[in-house]
This record gives sequence, C-alpha cells and structure tokens, in this order.
Amino acid sequence: MLVKNRLFTPGPAAMLPSAQMAMAAAGMHHRTAEFKALFSKTLADLKEFIGTKNDVLILSSTGTGAMESAVTNLTSPGDVVLVLTAGKFGERWTSIAKTYGCKPEVVSKPYGQTFDLAEVREALKKNPKCVYMQANETSTGARHDVQGVAAVVKEANAAGGDTLLIVDAITGLGTTHFDVDGWGVDVIIGGSQKALMIPPGLAYLAVSEAAWKRMDVATTPRFYFDLRKERKSQSKGETAYTAATALVAGMSNALDFVRDMGKGDLRAGTVKLIDSAELCAAMTRAAATALGLKLFAGGNPGAAATAIVAPEGVDSGAMVKLLREQFGMIVANGQGDEMKGKLIRVAHLGYYDFLDTIGLAAALEQVVAKVTGQPLQAGVAVKAAQEVYAAAQVTQAAEAPQKAGA
Ligand SMILES: *Cc1c(COP(=O)(O)O)cnc(C)c1O
Repeated sequence: MLVKNRLFTPGPAAMLPSAQMAMAAAGMHHRTAEFKALFSKTLADLKEFIGTKNDVLILSSTGTGAMESAVTNLTSPGDVVLVLTAGKFGERWTSIAKTYGCKPEVVSKPYGQTFDLAEVREALKKNPKCVYMQANETSTGARHDVQGVAAVVKEANAAGGDTLLIVDAITGLGTTHFDVDGWGVDVIIGGSQKALMIPPGLAYLAVSEAAWKRMDVATTPRFYFDLRKERKSQSKGETAYTAATALVAGMSNALDFVRDMGKGDLRAGTVKLIDSAELCAAMTRAAATALGLKLFAGGNPGAAATAIVAPEGVDSGAMVKLLREQFGMIVANGQGDEMKGKLIRVAHLGYYDFLDTIGLAAALEQVVAKVTGQPLQAGVAVKAAQEVYAAAQVTQAAEAPQKAGA
C-alpha cells in the first residue's frame, strides 16, 4: 500500500504548506524597509499568540538558545535558583544553570508526574533568584501547573521575595491556555518547530518589566544571546545580527493562518488552535486506553504530546518502526536511557487535525495486534476517539449560545 509520511513527533512537527511557500519566496535583505515591516508585524502577532503585553523577542536558535538566555541574562554566578524537574527538559534547566555557575535547588518528581505545590512553596523560602520550569514536559507527556507555581511565587514575593518565574513553554504555547501577564510569568519561551508549524531555527520569548530590571544587575557573561541588545534592535524592527529572514517569513505566514482560524482575530484563532490540540490529545488518550494501553502521564496529561506505554514485554521501538514503515506515521520513542524502548510519544502540535488523530488510532489498532500477537481490535480505538470528539461537539453546542449572549 502507498505510504504517505506524516510527522507526529514532539518537534519538529508538521509544516504548514503556505508557510513553506512563504519561506521559499523570502529573498529580502534583513536591513531593508520590507524586512523591518515583516519583522515588526511578526513580533506584534507573537504578542497576541502568547497573550501578553510584555516585550517579545525572536532569536535565531532552537528553543534551547532561549532557555540559555534566560539563565545568562537573569542570574549572576553563585545565585541560588530553583529548578522544577520531572523529565529530560527539566534536567536541561539544571545543566544550563550549573554551566553558568548558579547553585540550582531542585524539586524533582519521577518521570511522568508533576510537582507538589507545597514542596515548591517550601523551596521558595530560600529566596531563589529564578524559578525554572516546563509548561509541558515533552519527554513524558506531562503538563505542569504553571498557574499554581506562579501563584506560590507571587505569594513568596509578596512576603519579601525577589524571584522571577521562567517557563519553557516551547511545546506549551499553542497547545495550552496561559494567562501570562495575569499569572505573572516573567519569561515564557517558545520554539518555531513546535505549534508554529515551521522548521527549527527560531526561538521566541516574552519578557516582563521585572525581568528587564534584573538584567541591569545580573553579571553572568553573555554575548550572542544578550537580550537587552536584542530589545534595542527589535524595538526598531531589526535584529542585532543577521536575521533568519526566511524563517521569519514562514512564522509570519503561520501566524496569519492562526488569525484566519479566528476569522481575522489572532487571539481567537490561538484559542481555537489550543482547543484543537486539547481535543486531539483527549481523543488519543481515549484511543490508547481503549486498546488496553497505559498512559505514561495519565494523572496530569498535557495536550502537546501523549506518551503511551508499550504493552508488557514489547519494545516501543518496534511500534515506532511499524508506525513509520507501514503507515508513514513518524512518532518518537521514549527519550533518554530511562524511557527509550518503553514509550511512544505522539505530538498534537500545530498542523495536526482530526483525521491525523483518527488515522493514528486506526494504525495503533493494527500495530498493537502485531506486536502483542493478539487478535485485531478493529475499530476499538477509533470508536473511543470518535466518542470523545462527539462529546466535545455537544459541549461546544451547549456553550455557543451562552458565548453569543455574553
Ligand atoms: C523541543 C523542546 C525544547 C527545545 O529543544 P530545541 O531542540 O532546542 O528546540 C525545550 N523544551 C521542551 C519542553 C521541548 O519540547
């Protein structure tokens, strides 16, 4: 049978065709009026996409570059910082903080789980300069409680603390609802190859006034990722160094696509994009569970990616291989020695829809039968996914008149 490739990994994710065209067509020089207009529009659109009034910057790097900038620009060597970690990306915060001479205090939970706010509150008594966390820990499929952590940070700051909250929302933005300014998130970070539907190569971040103030006193060395230098340039529609012009053109096109989803309202389109990811994730969880599979982060699943545990005695790599070779569905194995061979991870990022979800459910039925040697449970996962979709339509219909009346 013909095999059509579909990229379902938690980054890079499927690309938006019109954004690919926009990238191919972008030949402008970066110090021109044409590019300045495009760049300024993209920054303004990103503010709406993130849902913030804070300054937004774009960096030419993958997400990790922005994570590093959130350490080098906001800390001084010897600073105590607090890292909340329950997966591979949380561990990355600890590594970056140590690299730059910070003293990380770590609140950790086993992979697949999330933090206890009482433990975070306790750890905040050491008055860390920064708290670093993920919104979605893409290595495990877990969602962390950004709102809850933001509230305890606010509490600690009201009692005399001086702590900034930095959130890696690289897979969170576009899949998770945030109130960045209302909750008081000081830095929130995104990446182009996730829900923004273009290739890797751009990171973006929103920075609060408190975070800008911290940069005046933070002494960790920085050069390429000097956010104050970028702010100065980007407020004029320029970048400090050569801009990744084609990627910016692609990002702008993708944000237009989200605006179209909202019938001309980018914020409304973003809400729809997030709701779509939430629904695809819920359908996927129902499909996997119906087949008797366990969810790795079943207690606190996120909408960015779903981590499904391979059946007892089965190497998840065999499932990844079958999905790719037989059905063209590229999903990820577990990340790192601890999770490799145990999980398959399916993302619901950006350009990912109902049929992708239903297709995966159907392919999963075939793959589970093959790797377990059990009879095919034809339609079982698809039915479960369909029912979740149908229930969401009923809820939406019930809510629509209220929304229209409000
Ligand atoms: C993809 C991802 C990153 C960034 O990885 P890069 O390879 O640097 O783009 C960071 N955090 C999370 C949660 C991610 O999913």
